[in-house]
Amino acid sequence: MAVVLTLRKAISPGAPATGGRNSVELGTEAERARRHARWTRADLIDQMTGLMRGYELSWLYGRAQLEATAQPAAQREIRAQLKRLRQETERAAQAAIRQAYQAQFGYGKRAGWNWRDLDEAEDKFVRRLRQEEYVFATRFLDDIERGRLVMPLEERAKLYGQAGDEAFWWGFLYADQSADQYVRWVTSEAEHCPDCLYLSGELPPKEMEKYANANPNSLPLGGRWGTGVYSAQELATLAIVPQSGELLCTTNCQCHLERVTRPPGKPGARLQRKPFRSLAPKPVQPKYEEKRSRVRTKRVKRDGTIQKGVLSVLEQDLLRVLHGGERRER
Ligand SMILES: [Zn+2]
Ligand SMILES: [Zn+2]
Repeated sequence: MAVVLTLRKAISPGAPATGGRNSVELGTEAERARRHARWTRADLIDQMTGLMRGYELSWLYGRAQLEATAQPAAQREIRAQLKRLRQETERAAQAAIRQAYQAQFGYGKRAGWNWRDLDEAEDKFVRRLRQEEYVFATRFLDDIERGRLVMPLEERAKLYGQAGDEAFWWGFLYADQSADQYVRWVTSEAEHCPDCLYLSGELPPKEMEKYANANPNSLPLGGRWGTGVYSAQELATLAIVPQSGELLCTTNCQCHLERVTRPPGKPGARLQRKPFRSLAPKPVQPKYEEKRSRVRTKRVKRDGTIQKGVLSVLEQDLLRVLHGGERRER
């Protein structure tokens, strides 16, 4: 069953998708979009930090008040207030995530020279993306209540703030899905997880061998050319971008994508036509997995592999977005 992609024309300077901008203007605006994306990330980190710290302080204060009173009516009142506070905090956290994700996807598109506003399919995809993120905000609040934070609150809030970068890279990848577009998975000067090194082609072959039996991917080290270069459509089908939750490093990922030209020569392997799976999948606590699965049609198997044709709803949406809903199968 081969997937036939709709052929699209690459976005070139002056094209309608650029709003008629020339390459100099597009370059300047791409830089501006990246700068705004950094500000949006900093804002989300500050918002998450403030919300979570505020919730923690209020929660501790409320608990102390509860212990200080023996009157059932007063206790009920305190409990009701704490419940309300929790609801309001969750609502504010979701709004912050919502705004940031929407903005980041748009900045990603602009960085990729696409000035069109988000269409319906993209809106739907971004909605799904941030719904997945809401689950993590819920978990954060649960952990605060149970006094179960394993890392300093600020550090954890920062991770959630950085998560919005994923939306930027999806926007960047989606900006131009024509068949002649290529991107390279680039690692920066930092420590990297095996997944990122696998994708960029920098994982030492000896290390790669360790995963040989458990690797659910058919993708060769560094992709079909071994250099971390992928066609934009290929990476979309692999459903992976920097800062993706699927990566072992998740939002700590320091990688980025760069547009490149098609590598010379024939690729050394066939396309992997299913989403990339981490070399070391992270277990998700059953309670939260349940919440996430509500937005999935079928389950991804526990070992991280997926059955043929079985995708999460998020991945299905993504394919719909990326292939313009015009996927034909034969
Ligand atoms: Zn990584
Ligand atoms: Zn990375």
